[in-house]
Amino acid sequence: MIIKAFSNINTCIETVKSELTNLNISFNNAINEAELHEKIWMKNRTNEKIDRLKKLKNLAIKKGGKCLSEHYFNVKNKMSFKCSNPSHSSWEASYDQIFNQGTWCKQCYLEGRQKNKK
Ligand SMILES: [Zn+2]
Repeated sequence: MIIKAFSNINTCIETVKSELTNLNISFNNAINEAELHEKIWMKNRTNEKIDRLKKLKNLAIKKGGKCLSEHYFNVKNKMSFKCSNPSHSSWEASYDQIFNQGTWCKQCYLEGRQKNKK
């Protein structure tokens, strides 16, 4: 498409419309397609977030604990977790730390190390 300086928005729209007609695409179809792509993208992002939250919750249960957060935003976003030991306090960690780096309750880790020393 030729890049021009448009005197006003209507000239711009008319030019875009005629360019699309040249390409055999109707203006409304182009808009609908762009909206469709955005909707699919948004849906995939939402599904991915739900999926990651489920993965974290399942992993926490496997470790005998719990993921206390109900929302996942991104891999670096901090979420709340609780281990199986009632005397340990909950802590915050990201998806990246729990899922990719395999970190868990610091208090459990320190107590485990002390037991091994004895
Ligand atoms: Zn713990």
